[in-house]
Parts: sequence; C-alpha cells; structure tokens
Amino acid sequence: MELTAVHEHVWVIRGAVNMGLVRTQGDGLVAVDTGLDKQAGKTLEKAAKEIGLPLRAIVNTHAHADHFGGNAYLLSRTPVTVYAPEGEAAVIRRPMFEPEYLWQGASPLPQLQNKFLLAQASPVHVEYTPGVPFEVDGTTFLPVALPGHAAAQCGILVHDVCFAADAYFDPPVVDKHGVPYMVDYLATCRSADSLRSVQAAWFVPGHGEPARRPDAVIDYLKQRHEQAFQTVLAACRHPRSLDELLADVCRARNLAPANPGAYVLLRTPIAAYVTAAVGQGRMEIIMDGGKLQFLTIEK
Ligand SMILES: [Zn+2]
Repeated sequence: MELTAVHEHVWVIRGAVNMGLVRTQGDGLVAVDTGLDKQAGKTLEKAAKEIGLPLRAIVNTHAHADHFGGNAYLLSRTPVTVYAPEGEAAVIRRPMFEPEYLWQGASPLPQLQNKFLLAQASPVHVEYTPGVPFEVDGTTFLPVALPGHAAAQCGILVHDVCFAADAYFDPPVVDKHGVPYMVDYLATCRSADSLRSVQAAWFVPGHGEPARRPDAVIDYLKQRHEQAFQTVLAACRHPRSLDELLADVCRARNLAPANPGAYVLLRTPIAAYVTAAVGQGRMEIIMDGGKLQFLTIEK
C-alpha cells in the first residue's frame, strides 16, 4: 500500500484507482472514493489503522463501480455515513443500472456483469449538491460540479486539496484507453477547463499521479478527444452507423477492444461525440433499412 500525505490532514492511497483519506476536525477520517472492490475496502481500512483514526464517512465522487466498489465492505465493518452527488446516488444504491445503461437499457450480457462494471450495492445516506458545501465531523467539503465523464460527477475540494475524480486522466491512462470514457463530450471539455480556475495546492485524479497543477494533462486529454471527434466527423462524410464509427476510431487509434466490456466503454464516448455533433447541427440522422446512420453536414 502506498500512502502519500499531500497535506497535513490529507492522504492519497495510490493505485489503479486512487482513494483519499481526510482527517476531520473531530479526529475521524473521511474516505474519498473506495476503489474497485472488497480488497480496496480492506486497503482503506489498513490505511486508516496506520494513521490511527476511525473511519467516519465515505464521500463518493461518482457512481462508477471502480469508485464505490469498496463501500459495501467498509459498511460491513463499521457504521459510516455515505455521501454521494444527488445525480449519482441512484446507481450506487442499485449498481445494476451501470451494465444496463452500457447495454442500452437491456438486461446486460453476463460478460458485462463483472466487478469492473457492477459493484456491490451501497446505501447513500446523504445526497450532496454541486457547489453547496457540506460538513462532516466539523470539516467542510466543497463539491465541484465536474459532469461529462459521468452525468453528475463531482470533484471534492477539502483542506486545499482537489480530488478531481475522473474529470481528467494522466496521459498514460488516456493512451491506454485510446478514447477515455465519457458520456457528454462538451461537458467533459467544460469541466476539465473549469478545473484550471480551481485554487488548490494539490490535484488528485481518480487515476494517475497527484500534481500541483493539472493544466498540461487537461490539454492532452482535450486534444485527444478533439482528434477523435474530428475522426468521427470525417468518417461521417458517408453515412455511418455507430458500430462503423467505432471501428473507424479503432482503426485511427490502433485499438482492438478484446471483450464486450471494453467495447461498450468505447461505444459510449463515440455516441457522445455523435450527440454533440447532431446537437451542434453538424451531423444529420439517416434511417436506412434498419440502420441508424449519421452524416456530417458539409458547410
Ligand atoms: Zn469513472
């Protein structure tokens, strides 16, 4: 376990998914996200023991399985209060929504019901609102609206540290995914930009290294999204279905999703580019023989 102090009262447990621990005024600890699974919950428990303070609460940033998967274990060990953004809480309470929405609302393929996409359910005791500070055990947490990667994702600003959730990823993470997951292209760009004006001594992304300033990595993320968006617009000079577009982007990025999970995690951002293009009047919809197709409007 790699426990790094980024502030007198704030620690980051570095891993494939970062987790935070915040010391409260009342000498307790608050976890910011709980990782993928029971094992991540155990790691948090061990870290709290090492610091020597009791875990009092969990603050989740968004309802992706790899960010709240440790909730259930921690709740089974100690009575903690769970906080989550009001627009994300429903999925934490009923995690089956995640593989369902990835499979267009249908009962999901068994291959989509793994721990990466389907966490154990957890109660949410308090739903917080972006921009409205809340107090836990005497310490103030400010939720920062960062929609885009998830519909109602929030960052958390506490003790001069900004937990940025998945509003941006480090370049190696971006490159690994090829097209980073998001549900709203324009909101993703706006949220990443809004982080530039956040004053904090440290920024902690959900995946990647804590940094003093995230500006360069934000630039990289936006640039990679913009390139993929342009690939989609160019491919739609001829009518293309979503699956054809996905294949076009895979060719352009040298990607080959190896399983249904990897496929749906790529399909969602491609669909989000299409929604943005149609919304901006840059693309039209063509229905043809049972195919939903998209055509770029040449100006
Ligand atoms: Zn996420």
